[in-house]
Amino acid sequence: TGPLSLRVCRTWLKPFDRACAFRSGCAAVLPVPALFRPGPTRIQRDRLPMNDTPSYDLSAVIRTIADYPKPGILFRDITTLLGDARAFRRAIDELVQPWAGAKIDKVAGIEARGFIVGGAVAHQLSAGFVPIRKKGKLPHQTVRMAYALEYGEDEMEMHVDAIAPGERVVLVDDLIATGGTAEGAVKLLRNIGAQVEAACFIIDLPDLGGAAKLRALGVPVRTLIGFPGH
Ligand code: AMP
Repeated sequence: TGPLSLRVCRTWLKPFDRACAFRSGCAAVLPVPALFRPGPTRIQRDRLPMNDTPSYDLSAVIRTIADYPKPGILFRDITTLLGDARAFRRAIDELVQPWAGAKIDKVAGIEARGFIVGGAVAHQLSAGFVPIRKKGKLPHQTVRMAYALEYGEDEMEMHVDAIAPGERVVLVDDLIATGGTAEGAVKLLRNIGAQVEAACFIIDLPDLGGAAKLRALGVPVRTLIGFPGH
């Protein structure tokens, strides 16, 4: 029955179901075809578990580098998390948990670590991926938005046709600090008609107020680990 089950998985089950069936031992389980399961559910924003204490200690695999890129900054380096297969999978699984079974059209990732985290989130949600980049990096026609930096401002861009009006989008980056970058991304997405369902980040620096800023814009925020200070 192994090859038969696998064939059924490939043809009838959606990717998320396939992953579950695979993890639970596909050959031993008679999968229930997706056709006979409830379809994608609408997201109930008020019932999303937005801030979890992860069951796995992800903070242990995040490296902190003092005084980088300048004195006084504690840089939270996620390359150590990304390089740990188990931690990387856990982080992505925990991030997508509120949207399992929900219909998300696109995941928008902020350059550059948001591409890595967002790409994995998009794959897990069977959604498309849209890069939000620093200005001048995208080849096709773009829409642009200014956003606040610690000192001054910069601009970010996305392709004008990357998201259709009304599409449901989850915004992803590795970390939220002051929230200037994510706020700019939310405004950019809304300007082209996207419905921003939520924003999610592995790390929150709550003392800098970024997550609160996004919530004030009406965007539910999901984060996995908080570090005090900046
Ligand atoms: P902000 O716009 O202040 O919320 O800054 C968020 C962006 O800056 C994210 O793309 C982060 O990757 C990066 N960032 C800000 N602070 C840190 C930090 N302490 N450690 C690592 N990345 C940071």
